[in-house]
Amino acid sequence: MSLPDPPLLGGCQCGACRYEIAAAPLFGYVCHCLECRRHTSSAFSASILVRTDALKAMGPISVWVRENANGPPLEAHFCAACGVRLFHHSVPKGPLVRVKAGTLDDADWFSPAAEYFTKRRFAWVSPAGEAVQCVEADAAGADPMSVWRRLTA
Ligand SMILES: [Zn+2]
Ligand SMILES: [Zn+2]
Repeated sequence: MSLPDPPLLGGCQCGACRYEIAAAPLFGYVCHCLECRRHTSSAFSASILVRTDALKAMGPISVWVRENANGPPLEAHFCAACGVRLFHHSVPKGPLVRVKAGTLDDADWFSPAAEYFTKRRFAWVSPAGEAVQCVEADAAGADPMSVWRRLTA
């Protein structure tokens, strides 16, 4: 499905935190790893990559840094009132932020271009559409970005 026109709006469950994304998302994926299960308290995470300078968040946001065995630490941003994870980025902050797709006001357009850590996927969850299937974090020669471009054209 084609990308929505910016700005994309979203927020936490209680409404205290809101955010605005001023540029089109650059990528979308789901991840089945154990950390993603925990931080979403669900079966898997769904995320979009957006430019750091395009994201503006408002409200009582708390920050927690998680050490990461597979790379730099991750700084998680969540609502101090209701605890919903809104986005995270690596430390130090780079050019991209991972926003949790489930917090978008409208995510009907979202379809993942890749699925990561499929070795952890619950048996009752089917592979998503055209998403590149990655056993762990590596796409093993596949090109998820070209899938993203096709999905969002
Ligand atoms: Zn909240
Ligand atoms: Zn994950």
